Amino acid sequence: MSLQSWHITYRGSLSSCNYDCGYCPFAKTSNTRSELQEDYKSLDQFVNWVHQRQEQIRILFTPWGESLVRKPYQQAIIRLSHAPNINRVAIQTNLSCNLEWVKKANNAKIALWVTYHPSQTTLEKFINKCTYLFQNNVRFSVGSVGLKQDLGLIEQLRILLPQSVYLWVNAYKDKPSYYNNSDINRILKIDPFFDLNHKNHASLGEACFAGETSFMVNHNGDIQRCHFIKNKLANIYDGNFTQSLKPRSCNLDICDCHIGYINLKKLNLNKVFKNGMVERIPNLKIYNISGE
Ligand code: SF4
Ligand code: SF4
Repeated sequence: MSLQSWHITYRGSLSSCNYDCGYCPFAKTSNTRSELQEDYKSLDQFVNWVHQRQEQIRILFTPWGESLVRKPYQQAIIRLSHAPNINRVAIQTNLSCNLEWVKKANNAKIALWVTYHPSQTTLEKFINKCTYLFQNNVRFSVGSVGLKQDLGLIEQLRILLPQSVYLWVNAYKDKPSYYNNSDINRILKIDPFFDLNHKNHASLGEACFAGETSFMVNHNGDIQRCHFIKNKLANIYDGNFTQSLKPRSCNLDICDCHIGYINLKKLNLNKVFKNGMVERIPNLKIYNISGE
């Protein structure tokens, strides 16, 4: 088999968060010390495994909750960022952690997928953290759930962030037809790529990189093709697991989340996101948005 580029999402057993967002099942949940130790052990095993692979790998950590406040996750990202076969290592985070650790990472390879939670932090505190990342040349995207009551704050955030930092808005989909045309036009001024997320992409029978060059790994090393189709394909710690990676088509009706639909071949999103696929940073030049 020829060596491939892999896009891996990793989700360990950690499931806890220091924030308290009203819509989230992980709000103010905690893990016991022994649960955390177990999670860190699995994380270490995964990082060691990555170091032993020959493939070029992009990783996105998608924890159940907030893991970047935990030092072992910061250290894992630092270690991975120095591995020659890593193209990108990124993590979803609320950015509440101390950010000193980024100075030890290879900032050509790390990236943060940052979510702003207006009910949990002030705009000023949040912008200060983003400024720190910006000044330390760390790649990051910023985003928020597009609740109508938060749009004013998200607009302010857009004004305060450097123009070159992409600000995404996730469509709130729990209520059907939540947005009217004027809401959508307002959001498009913040996030010119909002349509991509607002849409539920028809995926049944469509060719998808998930399960071929993209897959999700859990704390045991079990892999699924993506977060949304739960069948176990194989385990990365079995020597011959690569035999399970092959072209596949989706068996769900829709794919409506960035970490899923970026894999849909028909959308050709490699063109839009180029090397920012994992951390959700599009090529802003497509919309003539200049970087700084
Ligand atoms: S920060 Fe994220 S994981 Fe934590 S409570 Fe809010 S939405 Fe949930
Ligand atoms: S289209 Fe989405 S749900 Fe279907 S296999 Fe691909 S990533 Fe998974």
